[in-house]
Amino acid sequence: MTRFWSAVVHGLTPYVPGEQPKLANLVKLNTNENPYGPSPRVLDAVRAEAADTLRLYPDPGSDRLRAAIAALHGVGADQVFVGNGSDEVLAHAFMALLKHEQPILFPDITYSFYPVYCGLYEIAFRTVPLTETFEIRVDDYLTPNGGVIFPNPNAPTGRLLALDEIERLLAGNPDSVVVIDEAYIDFGGQSAVDLVARFPQLLVTRTLSKSHALAGLRVGYAIGQVHLIEALNRVKDSFNSYPLDRLAQAGALASMEDHAYFEGVCEKVVASRTRLAGAMAEMGFEVLPSAANFIFARHSGHDGAELAAALRERSIVVRHFGQPARIAPFVRITVGTDAQIDALLAALKAIVNC
Ligand code: PMP
Repeated sequence: MTRFWSAVVHGLTPYVPGEQPKLANLVKLNTNENPYGPSPRVLDAVRAEAADTLRLYPDPGSDRLRAAIAALHGVGADQVFVGNGSDEVLAHAFMALLKHEQPILFPDITYSFYPVYCGLYEIAFRTVPLTETFEIRVDDYLTPNGGVIFPNPNAPTGRLLALDEIERLLAGNPDSVVVIDEAYIDFGGQSAVDLVARFPQLLVTRTLSKSHALAGLRVGYAIGQVHLIEALNRVKDSFNSYPLDRLAQAGALASMEDHAYFEGVCEKVVASRTRLAGAMAEMGFEVLPSAANFIFARHSGHDGAELAAALRERSIVVRHFGQPARIAPFVRITVGTDAQIDALLAALKAIVNC
């Protein structure tokens, strides 16, 4: 019955999200969720919002939340755009700011949703190979293009590009929009938000899904100069005027206001990442340096698919990407709680026979 489909739908290759297993008692280290819960203040705020007022539409502009985000980053509220997860923010950015004559550029190994948006919005793109050591080389992006996008730190590698390199990229691309997807920046990198005032073509996207432990609430945002934000709002209000429901706005606001809790959680994840990477290196894994809440690692004696399958047999779920071939030997492992890391390390020891 695909004859009912539009031509666009026939041509789509949709994104495949990491598995959300229905089985209980799995050690779930496959989708980079935070192993700790959100701030208790978030839960209180969401509960308080579960009231009769749910019959009313939410604030279409999420004004209080945008003001809190703006205050945190030292920008104006009119420089903040919020959406239903950063995936939605990114989708609007592709449509609003990255659809031009020339192909846009992104790394060959990166967030696999980018080519999907290009397919949906019919945007031409060219992938730029990472270096042998899986790094972004800015010089490769100093060619004519319709825009540039990549995550920093990159996913699924976890590798960070230094802020002065991002500045060099911006200086060399004055006429195209550069989107820096900072989904994982709170786990170790310096944000490009500080460059927004100087670069009118820079859009920085963020999510509350990882560092704020709110993947289930679906809140993301972007920061840029007002002309970029206006473009995003034009798309949003041609698509869905109420992307954030009342619970999401209340919970996200409470999370933004509980900075101490947020910092504590990030510190714990970073400390656990160091322990995990060190222990795996001792077992003979090559672990890429990570500034994110996951690590990307390979073992010369075991293929990535084999590792993921062997872990799965031991009730531990990690992410394996078969494509591109260059990353097929790797597995991506989300940094979990101490107990989850202990279970993972014990299983890996058994698998690699240490
Ligand atoms: N960017 C990157 C690089 C990601 O890995 C993810 C998570 N899959 C997202 C954006 C989207 O996150 P969310 O929609 O939960 O904000």
